[in-house]
Amino acid sequence: MVESGPVERRTRRRRFSRPIAWALRVAWAGWLSCAVAEGLIVFWDVESVLVTGPIILLLALIGIILAWSAGYRALALLGLANALICLLFFSLVISLNWKPPDAKTPFAIMGFLYTLSTLPIACWLTQRAPGRPNPWECLECGYLLYGLTEPRCPECGRVFDPAVLNTIHPPISS
Ligand SMILES: [Zn+2]
Repeated sequence: MVESGPVERRTRRRRFSRPIAWALRVAWAGWLSCAVAEGLIVFWDVESVLVTGPIILLLALIGIILAWSAGYRALALLGLANALICLLFFSLVISLNWKPPDAKTPFAIMGFLYTLSTLPIACWLTQRAPGRPNPWECLECGYLLYGLTEPRCPECGRVFDPAVLNTIHPPISS
């Protein structure tokens, strides 16, 4: 007779508007291609950037357009960063006249640092994406805040604005 699990667990899945969802998909595809490109540089051949570089650049440009038109400018900045890292690699090869053996180690190190540092940023941007319209869901975990008497999410512990409780339980007047 014990009820199993918290109710409404499905509400923890985030819902995004369609433009935001697509901008996020492309941003993550961009991150994945950076990770794949890094793996190819390290474990295969540095000249793989001739293929992966343009793919990353293309995804970055699509990502910028999608994120910008969806009104999520911070996500567009991530696309811009992806585009800039491609241009940086390209300009290093041109200006320093690097041959593939010269480029391998710096590309591997810079690519690793870049991919590693953009992962938490991409996660953060996904967490903070707009399009979670319901004031009665916890901003952190999406838990339904119905029926609470204090402004703290019982699921994740996040404190929220007590005014939200008033929007959930409008005072019964007359
Ligand atoms: Zn929560």
